[in-house]
Amino acid sequence: MSHPFPYSLETVVDEVFLEAAAVDDGDVTTYIPELARVDPALIGLSVCDGSGAFVERGDSGHYFTLQSISKVLGYACVLEIFDDETIARHVGVEPTGEDFDSIIKLDRHKRPFNPMVNAGAIAVTDLLLTRFGGEAVEQTLAFFAQLLGRKDLVIDEAVYESEQRTGERNRAIAHLLKNFAILENSVEEVLALYFRHCAVQVTTGDLARLGMTLANGGCTPGGGDPVLCPETLRKLLSVTLTCGMYNYAGQWVYEVGFPAKSGVSGGMLGIVPGRYGIGVFSPRVDEKGSSPRGVCVQKRLSDRLNLHMFAPD
Ligand code: GLU
Repeated sequence: MSHPFPYSLETVVDEVFLEAAAVDDGDVTTYIPELARVDPALIGLSVCDGSGAFVERGDSGHYFTLQSISKVLGYACVLEIFDDETIARHVGVEPTGEDFDSIIKLDRHKRPFNPMVNAGAIAVTDLLLTRFGGEAVEQTLAFFAQLLGRKDLVIDEAVYESEQRTGERNRAIAHLLKNFAILENSVEEVLALYFRHCAVQVTTGDLARLGMTLANGGCTPGGGDPVLCPETLRKLLSVTLTCGMYNYAGQWVYEVGFPAKSGVSGGMLGIVPGRYGIGVFSPRVDEKGSSPRGVCVQKRLSDRLNLHMFAPD
């Protein structure tokens, strides 16, 4: 393990950015056809600290869609609204060891294992729809905007339409959930909300700021007011740590040691409690749906800045 001193954060970010940019594994996502239109060479990196200061490199101003990173935000919203018992009737908190879009795996209670795989996120989205009804898109986006520290958020309509047209695997998952009475609303209504929150546009700066808010007891960086209650944060970070990286989750905790969430658009969120929020974007992803450059950034930052939660000081 290398020790951070005497390097400044800027120096470490410079080195890590160059190292990640040299990684050229993976391919752009094609199962959502619109995502395949992106420039594969893009790479953006933002790190935010508790004071709200940012270190940013590359294409940090480029907009991309949240995709699975929206699962963290959706789950935060239901944790704020519903009691544990209600949530537990719809979704568990166990890692699956399966791919993010696994169709067959429900636990012994016939519910999805956790809210970070598609099945669980669709069940969570159903709860949001039940609570917000006809206002579900506006209310969900308002909640996301508050966590991201943005006045408003924009949905990438082309990406949304693209996933609506081609999302038969998620339809299969949602029909299975409906069969087991996990969904109260219709499959199409739930998927319309799910695909929309996956298609919310953000930058790496937004992700870094979100990461820092979650790393900072739920308070926006720079001395902001809390936007999440402590109980929500404890549950959210626990599940993101153990389940956020899908079938790579155990290896992730072992090697990197802080909660993270990736999405098939190539975005990646890192949450280093008490220290940093990290946002990375590079569109080529591996077979697990994570950006190899994003993985490289998080691993290298963990190593260089001693960020693993169990690392000695
Ligand atoms: N919208 C994507 C899906 O449901 C999100 C998957 C991901 O980013 O891992 O297939």
